[in-house]
Amino acid sequence: MWVEGRPWFTMWRGAFGRQAVLIQRPESILQALPVELDAVCALVDEEGRVVAGRKPVGITVVRVATESQLPWSLYITGSQGSGDLVMTARQRFILLGLGTVVVFLIAGTYFVARAIRREIAVSRLQSDFVSAVSHEFRSPLTAMRQLSEILALGRVRSEEQRQKYYETLVGETGRLQRLVETLLNFGKMDSGARHYRLEEIDAGDVVEGVVAEFAPQLAASGRGIELHRPPTTCPINADAEALALALRNLVDNALKYSPDQPAVVVEWGCENGAVAIRVRDRGMGIPVAEQRVIFEKFVRGRAAIAANVKGTGVGLAMVSHIVRAHGGEVRVMSAPGEGSTFTIVLPRSRIQTSEAP
Ligand code: ADP
Repeated sequence: MWVEGRPWFTMWRGAFGRQAVLIQRPESILQALPVELDAVCALVDEEGRVVAGRKPVGITVVRVATESQLPWSLYITGSQGSGDLVMTARQRFILLGLGTVVVFLIAGTYFVARAIRREIAVSRLQSDFVSAVSHEFRSPLTAMRQLSEILALGRVRSEEQRQKYYETLVGETGRLQRLVETLLNFGKMDSGARHYRLEEIDAGDVVEGVVAEFAPQLAASGRGIELHRPPTTCPINADAEALALALRNLVDNALKYSPDQPAVVVEWGCENGAVAIRVRDRGMGIPVAEQRVIFEKFVRGRAAIAANVKGTGVGLAMVSHIVRAHGGEVRVMSAPGEGSTFTIVLPRSRIQTSEAP
């Protein structure tokens, strides 16, 4: 009922001569709606007058009097007035879906770009490797061809010169053989076909054997290898041939990358239950950023390339492979211009240490 222009909601019921009456402002019915609904609501009578609340604008859900079981129609809309609640939820869902798709697209693009970058880097390394190997083959082959032609045509002036040519031929053939063996060994390791036969050996024997192999090369260049022997033997479980190959690579590198230095140092010893073999030079050194990647196959340092030092970039990859197969690790300490120290650390064999003779 309307009293002085204001609507009132009244209800009454009578029984056994008693009468109960409820008189209420219609707003109190709207107040019963849950606050979290966050909606604009209105009760509108048959004549279109707003009995309670605010008549919503925009897309609105209407429940007429017969449906709402109230004397009025109920109008309800989202608080923004931009659409109904269902619509807002759908929009949120679509936005979330779109957001997820965009995130997946960005992540996918990033991973694909990274994979492509890696592929390009690997193929560049491989082509550098092929050209490095070709160069390594070309110079001994050229020398061998020229010398054998001179010898075959009998253009040698003296017996002494002939002997010198033969020695050069032997040297170059050895160089070629070492290169081929290096590549074959690397191929085997890379494909996982290299098997190791571990036996108990003295690390010192392997080191001294490898150092002795460099004697002719050192004699020719007037350089040397300083050996620092430990007071005890250092027994290890190792494949002597593979360990020698790893060590040969380290000594070869030390000599190659310190061309102006008179000597490199090789030392070994037993430290904290492990055997450490160290190769030290005072050569060009390696920047910290490169120290992490030089053990990967085909990787060559910038300084090495700039100084035109020959190499294929597989030596340290082999060293790392061999040492890991022995349950050890290879460490590098280096500073550009100051030199490098490579250390092979292997688990020590459990047999008793004896005094060296
Ligand atoms: P290679 O010597 O054939 O290039 P390696 O795998 O033996 O390949 O070495 C990888 C790179 O590590 C070298 O190109 C060089 O830049 C760097 N390197 C290795 N040993 C030394 C060293 N003793 N001194 C300076 N740089 C070194």
